[in-house]
Amino acid sequence: MKKIGIIGPGAVGSCITVQLLATEHKVYLIGRRNEHITYQDASNNLNIVLNVVKASDITEPLDIIFIAVKIPHLEGLYEQIKHLSQDTTIVILAQNGYGQHLKLPFPHIYQAVTYISGQKTAQHVIHFRDEILHLQQDDNTISLKKLLASSGLSLVLHKNIEVEIWYKLLVNLAINTVTALGIQPASILKQPHIKSLCISLLNEGYMIAKHSGINLSDNVIEEIMTIYQGYPDDMGTSMYYDVLSNTPLEIDGIQGFLYRQARKCKLTTPHLDTIYALLLSRHHTFLNNS
Ligand code: NAP
Repeated sequence: MKKIGIIGPGAVGSCITVQLLATEHKVYLIGRRNEHITYQDASNNLNIVLNVVKASDITEPLDIIFIAVKIPHLEGLYEQIKHLSQDTTIVILAQNGYGQHLKLPFPHIYQAVTYISGQKTAQHVIHFRDEILHLQQDDNTISLKKLLASSGLSLVLHKNIEVEIWYKLLVNLAINTVTALGIQPASILKQPHIKSLCISLLNEGYMIAKHSGINLSDNVIEEIMTIYQGYPDDMGTSMYYDVLSNTPLEIDGIQGFLYRQARKCKLTTPHLDTIYALLLSRHHTFLNNS
């Protein structure tokens, strides 16, 4: 039996927890305070009450840690949870974005590409669909997949996870940006200028990927634009909801990561530079007012 901790009792963390509760392992859902939250699965009417504990209340080291807090909440997190890890602990970042692993000096840390859809409102989580994490394939993740085989969580292992990470980065880049800055859900994509802004951002993202050694397929931009066209008009993105609820934005791991990577590769990215400056300004306004 392994000891597993899930940090962040939100949409993603609660879903991972519920999937792992079906296994023989000891599972802790770890939050900022001791509390109970309710979890509802929209597909099968499952309703469960989940027990959330504070990290400081756990005294034993864990074998596996999933981190499912939003990117701005990584600030200071390492100090709060480092006592939960030991040399062999496997840490999985179940977040969007890329580059966050550099802030957390765990020896075995993996960026997952997270396909879990849900939403948290106050103490209630609703899970819409998917329970899938994509991970780099190596000895640790092959063992992890075996350990969690009896859970409802699907671990998909890749020989080169970078391609999956960058693909999701690009998917998030344009839609999150236009919905957050335009303060409108996916219906904003119907506006021709917004559509062409998305294409320009995706072109710049594609170029940054290419210069970073990531070979995405030649038709990736058309593919992503087709995905966007399938979104219902009233669908919001996480960055859109963060703007509405006046909470910090996950720009550091998405637009910010791409912006820094563009500078590193000495690329000209006028659309990305503009939207990044605007998003950063909104993010700083929040930080100054909080
Ligand atoms: P969320 O619903 O806001 O949940 C995050 C949780 O982390 C909140 O419950 C928050 O607690 C908790 N938290 C913050 N700081 C903490 C700390 N220091 N210690 C313990 N818990 C802490 O966020 P989410 O939607 O699950 O998103 C998590 C990540 O997954 C993000 O990177 C997101 O972009 C990505 N993602 C989300 C979805 C989705 O559909 N939701 C899909 C794909 C990827 P409080 O309640 O106290 O604030």
